[in-house]
Amino acid sequence: MTENPHDPAEQKSAEQKKAEQKKAEQKNAEHPPRTGPRPAPRWSQRGPASARAYAPVAAPTVCPVCGGPVEGELTCQFCGQVMVLPHGIHLSTVGLRFGGFLLENLLMICTLYIGWLIWAFLVFPRGQTPAKQLLHMRVIYIPEARAARWWRMFFREFIAKGIIGLLASVTLLIPYFWLLWDRNRQELWDKMATTLVITDPEDRLRPPRPPAASLPE
Ligand SMILES: [Zn+2]
Repeated sequence: MTENPHDPAEQKSAEQKKAEQKKAEQKNAEHPPRTGPRPAPRWSQRGPASARAYAPVAAPTVCPVCGGPVEGELTCQFCGQVMVLPHGIHLSTVGLRFGGFLLENLLMICTLYIGWLIWAFLVFPRGQTPAKQLLHMRVIYIPEARAARWWRMFFREFIAKGIIGLLASVTLLIPYFWLLWDRNRQELWDKMATTLVITDPEDRLRPPRPPAASLPE
C-alpha cells in the first residue's frame, strides 16, 4: 500500500502544521527572538564599579597632573583631576559644593524662586545652575565626558534631588553627606544622573553655542 497524498487525514495535519507555523511567525513578529548576548542593564553598574566602567580605555596608571597612582579610577584621589577630561579640570572641592548649596538657596529666596527658575532654565544647557554659574562649577555627564545638557540637568535638579530629598527626610539627612565619602565626590543624585561636578574657571567645558534656541526641542 502506498501513501495517498490526498488522504484527508494527512491533508488535515498538513493544514494544521501550516496554521501552527503561521501562528509562530506572528508571535515572532510581536516578540522577535533575542539574538546575541543580552546587554548588561545600565543600572546594574553602580558605585565604584561604574566609575571604573567609565574610566578611559587606555587608562593611565599615574595622574598626568600630580603623578599619583590612579589605576582604574575615574578621578585622581590626590588632586581631583578627572581622567576623562582635559588636564587641569578638577572635581569641585567639598567646601565649594557646600558653598554652592548655600548660594543656591540664597538665590532662590532672593528671587522668590521664580527668578532662580528662569535663570536655571537658561543655564541648564551649559551643565550649570545659577549658583554653579557664579562659582564657575559645571555638571559633567560622565559617559560622554562633556557638560550635562538641559534634560539631564532638569532630571538631576528636580527629579533625582526630589527622590533623594524624600529619602533623606526619613534617614537623618545622611544621604546629603554622601559626597564626603564618595571616591568621585558624587552625591546620590549625581549617581542617578551619571554626573560629576567639576570646577571650570576658564569655561573650557562650556558647550559651543547651538545654532538655534538652546531651550529643549
Ligand atoms: Zn592627581
